[in-house]
This record gives sequence, structure tokens and C-alpha cells, in this order.
Amino acid sequence: MRIDPEKCTACAQCPDYCPVTCIHEGDGVYFMDEDECVECGVCLRDAGCPTEAIYMPEESNRYPRSIRAAFSDPAVQYPEELFPDLKQGGRGTEEMKTNDVTGNFPRGEFGMTLEFGRPGTGTRLREVEKVTTLLTSLGIRFEGSNALFFLLEEPERGVLKRELRDEKVLSIIVEFTLAEAQLETIVAALFEVLQTVDTVVSWGLVTRFEEDGSLPVTDRLEKLGLTVRPNAKVNMGMGRPIIED
Ligand code: SF4
Ligand code: SF4
Repeated sequence: MRIDPEKCTACAQCPDYCPVTCIHEGDGVYFMDEDECVECGVCLRDAGCPTEAIYMPEESNRYPRSIRAAFSDPAVQYPEELFPDLKQGGRGTEEMKTNDVTGNFPRGEFGMTLEFGRPGTGTRLREVEKVTTLLTSLGIRFEGSNALFFLLEEPERGVLKRELRDEKVLSIIVEFTLAEAQLETIVAALFEVLQTVDTVVSWGLVTRFEEDGSLPVTDRLEKLGLTVRPNAKVNMGMGRPIIED
């Protein structure tokens, strides 16, 4: 995004709208630090600039920068040419939230998510690569149904396309499944690498309740030093499971 200095009257209305605080004042006008801007579109849509000084320049839509809006602005679709055959809507985790119908996470497996950059911080994609390369070295494979897959140059090694590493997005989700027996190994390795990641990460695990209503994974996670905050979502009227338990 960009501010036209000829039009900006320095009314100071737009900076508070920016989730990554990249709108600053200088020389009597406001400007954007375009390297930090994630192209979320909030300033353009919502700040109500009285002189319409805010605009999206051509460069914002050019690859690789175009990746920013795709992962930051919910009003922007994943571009077909970069994400061919992507079935995923929204920003990911749809499958996790509808597991009672899809059965994607059967007993014996956990789902895991690592959401980078939210709230209001954003992330460089190179921070995500620290985790994807680690996970593939531990035998985790990423599936083509997740938008992240299309950013990988070498999916089997978790290596990102080189030109994307310095791009910054508001949030991106690493999502995968693991066998229950892998839990301690994966969590310990992630715990270590996450100390080196330069952004915030929300870490989630998807599991099913046992027949008696218990969640044995809670004890296992607490033994690993993690504080567990159980969270559930009930999808009313979703219909019958596709896969019987
Ligand atoms: S597009 Fe988003 S990140 Fe960029 S300046 Fe506007 S509000 Fe900030
Ligand atoms: S809202 Fe418009 S006029 Fe006001 S500071 Fe921002 S760009 Fe300048």
C-alpha cells in the first residue's frame, strides 16, 4: 500500500488502523514502511482517508509481493496461477474445525497447527521455513490441500521458494497430522526451534475425546512443560460424518 504525499494532509487518521504499525509521519506527511506492510488492505478500506491519498500501487500485485495480500487480506482470493486446484477457503484449519464430519483426524493421530504472526504482528516467511524444514526432517509431510504447500520449492524438505523468504504476511498456518506416538518427539523439537522464531506463534493440537470424555493427551503435553488450554468448537447442523468412527 502507499500514500500519495501530494494528497496527504497529515490528518493522522490512518496510522491506528494498521495492524503492523507501519504507517509513520515524516516531512509533514504520513507514509508507509512498504517493507513492513503486509498488504492487508485495512487502511484503504477502513481508515476513511478524507483526501483518498491511500492507494494500492501496481507493484503490490506483482509476484512475489502479491503473496502478501493473499495471506493478509480476507477479501483477496488465493491467485489461481499460484495456487492451482487449491480447495481450501479462508486461511486454513477448516478441516480441523469440521472434523466431526470429515473425520480427517482419526483415532491414533493428532492434528497440529502453528499459526504464525497473529495477532497483529505478521511474519516473514523465512520464519515459517525454520519449522517446515524441521518437521520434514522428522518425517512430517505437508499436503497439497493447504495453501502453504504451494509456497514450497521442495515439499519433501520443507524448503520455501527462494524469492518468498523475505515476504511478510499477516498470518500463515502450518498444518499437519502426526501419529500419536510421535507427539513427544515433535513437541520437544518444535519447542526448541520456536525459541528462535522472530514472531508470535499460536500452537494448536486437534484430538478426539475418549469414549469416557477424557483427553489423555493433556497429561502428556503438561509433562512436556506445556500449558494446555482446552478449546472446542461445536458446528451445529453439519450433518452426518462422512467417515464412521
Ligand atoms: S495495507 Fe495493512 S499493513 Fe499495509 S499500511 Fe495498510 S493497514 Fe498497514
Ligand atoms: S488518513 Fe489520509 S490524509 Fe490522513 S494521514 Fe492518512 S493518508 Fe494522510
